[in-house]
Amino acid sequence: MINIPKGTKDVLPANSYKWQFVEDKAREVAKLFNLKEVRTPVFEHTELFARGVGDTTDIVNKEMYTFEDKGGRSITLKPEGTAGVARMYIENGLHSGVLPVKTFYITPCFRYERPQAGRLREFHQFGIEVFGSKTPDTDAEVIFAASSFLNKLGIKEIKLNINSIGCKTCRAQYNAALKNYLEPNLSDMCETCRSRFDKNPLRILDCKEEKCKKINEDAPKIIDYLCDECSDHFEKVKKYLTAQGVEYSVNPYIVRGLDYYSKTVFEFVSTKIGSQGTVCGGGRYDGLIESLGGVSTPAIGFGAGIERLLLLMENTGVEIEDNSAPTIYLAGMDDESRTKAFDIAMQLRACGIAAEVDHMGRSIKAQFKYADKIGAKYVAAIGGNELLSGECNLKKMSDGTTVPVKFEDICTYLKK
Ligand code: ATP
Ligand code: MG
Repeated sequence: MINIPKGTKDVLPANSYKWQFVEDKAREVAKLFNLKEVRTPVFEHTELFARGVGDTTDIVNKEMYTFEDKGGRSITLKPEGTAGVARMYIENGLHSGVLPVKTFYITPCFRYERPQAGRLREFHQFGIEVFGSKTPDTDAEVIFAASSFLNKLGIKEIKLNINSIGCKTCRAQYNAALKNYLEPNLSDMCETCRSRFDKNPLRILDCKEEKCKKINEDAPKIIDYLCDECSDHFEKVKKYLTAQGVEYSVNPYIVRGLDYYSKTVFEFVSTKIGSQGTVCGGGRYDGLIESLGGVSTPAIGFGAGIERLLLLMENTGVEIEDNSAPTIYLAGMDDESRTKAFDIAMQLRACGIAAEVDHMGRSIKAQFKYADKIGAKYVAAIGGNELLSGECNLKKMSDGTTVPVKFEDICTYLKK
């Protein structure tokens, strides 16, 4: 037998309603916030991620699924959603249309990581990206969208952490201070941190190694180094959040995994799903579009991991209702009545009612059992008498009551 690749998962028929629930809520939120769906390829030129995600990130350094295609091009399966949407924005000249361009996507992502709970090699993200606005209300709105989504899912045990990592101007000063602090400790830090020291010291704060985390605890905080503009922007974002009653903590050490962030960064974190606690992460990336060759365009977005959300919902007892059962099961006693059951089922489907019939040649008793098992809301048995009278008893499975209904009235009855 050939097994599923390590770090990937099937969504089985009995579980897909959970995925549909999460995706439905994502689409609902997107509609409420006037975000339009975009779909970009699952693979892109490797260069896009190397430049767009940043070559000091774990993603680009260690985690990409990169291969050469038959034409000798270096191709990479998307490890995250933003770079592809940014490329789409530039390539299609969306900057010359109406701004802001407000988008969302639901996409698989691929990262070569060590699989564990909440960490897969293929996972899925609901993400939003908004291009063209630099004002702090937009940062707040993106956070509101994430927060509304989590609320709609029924997730309560979650915390919002925010930070500002400034712009080019304030970052230069901060980097100097950070390097100053880190330099004497560098020999006690991991190799990755040491390699980041020159290229991107801020990223050192993202290290998950205990010994590095300890050193980072006393590092200077970037919010103490923000320029007036970044500081004012951050204050306004916080004001918007407070005004809407969205609770948050300022965590001066969030820097986020990607290289292209600036100003606001945020994470929704849970303590209920083990060490992979971040279910949603995002931030502003005002420099990305220009660095990819587009017209300088401010932008902000987030990505939420669907597997981690489902895990969190499971671990905190959030029930998802399974609405996937058919409305009615039509049982047939003999060949002729089975044909009639099939016929009625097709008519009901045509009028928008989910109907099921027997496909296994089961006895009438076994058909009832099966109808119960699949959770049909109504069951009707058709035999010689029903064929003669042209009506059948609709049994409501939740309370066992039955009502006689003419075949041609079943649709109207069930639609009531
Ligand atoms: P982590 O710190 O857990 O590695 P990250 O910073 O790499 O996360 P992002 O690149 O910000 O994560 O991705 C956004 C979201 O996608 C994460 O918050 C998480 O919910 C999800 N995610 C990231 N990597 C994985 C993975 N390997 N498996 C499942 N979900 C993931
Ligand atoms: Mg990661």
